[in-house]
Amino acid sequence: MRTMNWMILALLAVTMTAVAQQSASAPQNPQPVAATQPGQTAAQPSQAQSGQAQTNLAPPTTMDQVVNRVIMREKDLIKFLSLRTPIVETYLQNLTQDPQLGPIPQDDHYFLGRMDLSDSIDRNDYLQDKGKDEGMEKRLLGGLTKKFKFQYQPLGFSWMIFADRNDFDRQHYDFHYARREFLGDVRCLVFDLTPKKDAGRGRFLGRIWVEDHEFSIVRLNGTYARPSRNSYYFHMDSWRLNLVPGYWVPSYIYSEEGDFTAGAKNKIAFKAQTRMWGYNLKTGTPNDELTNIRVDSVKDDTPTAQDATPLAAEREWQQQAEDNVIERLERSGLVAPEGDVDKILQTVVNNLEITNNIELPRPVRTRVLTTSPLETFSVGNTIVVSRGLIDVLPDEGSLAMVLSHELAHIVLGHNLGSQYAFNDRMLFSDESTYQNLGFKHIPEEETAADKKAIELLKASPYAQKLESAGLFIKALQACAPQLSALLQAHLGNNITENGRVTRMAQLATSAPALDWNKLDQIAALPLGGRVKLNPWDDKVEIVKAQPVAITSARDKMPFEVTPFFPRLSRYGPASAPASTTAAVPTTTAATATASPSPTN
Ligand SMILES: [Zn+2]
Repeated sequence: MRTMNWMILALLAVTMTAVAQQSASAPQNPQPVAATQPGQTAAQPSQAQSGQAQTNLAPPTTMDQVVNRVIMREKDLIKFLSLRTPIVETYLQNLTQDPQLGPIPQDDHYFLGRMDLSDSIDRNDYLQDKGKDEGMEKRLLGGLTKKFKFQYQPLGFSWMIFADRNDFDRQHYDFHYARREFLGDVRCLVFDLTPKKDAGRGRFLGRIWVEDHEFSIVRLNGTYARPSRNSYYFHMDSWRLNLVPGYWVPSYIYSEEGDFTAGAKNKIAFKAQTRMWGYNLKTGTPNDELTNIRVDSVKDDTPTAQDATPLAAEREWQQQAEDNVIERLERSGLVAPEGDVDKILQTVVNNLEITNNIELPRPVRTRVLTTSPLETFSVGNTIVVSRGLIDVLPDEGSLAMVLSHELAHIVLGHNLGSQYAFNDRMLFSDESTYQNLGFKHIPEEETAADKKAIELLKASPYAQKLESAGLFIKALQACAPQLSALLQAHLGNNITENGRVTRMAQLATSAPALDWNKLDQIAALPLGGRVKLNPWDDKVEIVKAQPVAITSARDKMPFEVTPFFPRLSRYGPASAPASTTAAVPTTTAATATASPSPTN
């Protein structure tokens, strides 16, 4: 299963354009659209309720009418999403130029928050000590400030979910039709947008792709215009997916700045992936949650009721804690619903269990944490592995290594989290999850689990595949000092300590030498190559993509972020929901060509 998705994409334009302060509270200016389009005035206000209604409108016959429809659809989307509070995650790598490997990560940053799309765009952070300069952040909107040194503004990375939250209209923008083009299976009209002279600061400048059925924007690529003195906007490539009938939902944003040509004097160089998910999560208040307390999660179906022995009671207690935690994490969008990826993890766990004659009172279950940082933990008999970690593992042997450590904790009875059987401990806001839940073992248990895990692996079918697992550890060791944010666990134990890999480090000793120039030696993959996450319902699935040949050491990009290039398709029974979320970049889709084949 050595699939890889290497992307060699034409990078976005990286000229530094400076920032601006956009007044977030600019009054919403309704419809210059209706003025030129009398036939549509009546339909406009009600559109937000149903995207389907769009199809009843007469198809536009001129480009002018198309533009009016695009504006109307964008306003519909803003309204449709106004009650949603999706999770937004940005992972950013600052870059430095390596003579051999090209631009490589120098250090990194991680932001996780919940977006509020109601009146303007706002966010609440999950991680403490981030976004201290809240007032500044709200005024900036564009990305980074150089007040003292360059400081990234988390909100800036998600700013391009809309072209212009408040003033997306003909009064503020000129629309120039460029051409037709396919993005994946979807035929699009392409427009270049420029803000009008007196449109003010913080206006979108760039290109939009509009699908040709209902004229929804499916992709935006560009930046914001009109600089101010001490901050910048950066460039963004923003993708939407057709995850619900009638609406294309903002899903991925790639940002990049930096110029490594000889003589360039650019101060900042970075690349960042922003993912949004959890659109369909309940916006729970603590009061709602009170009604959700689980009273009993274990049904006693023995024919004659028996009292539990002390050990049976202890096990039931642990299971109740386990169920509480997993359910709570799923409800806050941090654990994906059960699905196909779990089956793959489960198979590997079963292989380890069977060959080691492990018999536990309850089956071991596996779940996927939806976030990027590389981490694992277990609660009761459930092993949780992060999406980011599954992404970068090169093969099944290294996956077995990761799972064996947590299985060892379970086998050794290192049970954590029984305090969560008390339901009051589940009553916290989603944003404070990391302050309220934690599954970190003491160092002695970590050492014991590693030792046991190696025993389990050596007696398993993976005994012959431990070289690649060891190589993965070596690659991680080589990159760890630059990736402290990616390696910061938020619920479980860190797999590194002060830049040194500690988890399963012993396996590295028997692995071959790490050699970036050896093109067939793949020690670790880029982020985003294995697991795709559906932004609407949080389901995860394994990416199916054609492997792309590696032609130089620079193609390996271990642990790195890359541009997004989802294969777009329309919502429908045939494609939904799985293939709709072509979440992950593939080179096959890298060049969207204006193919004449009418797939629609
Ligand atoms: Zn551990």
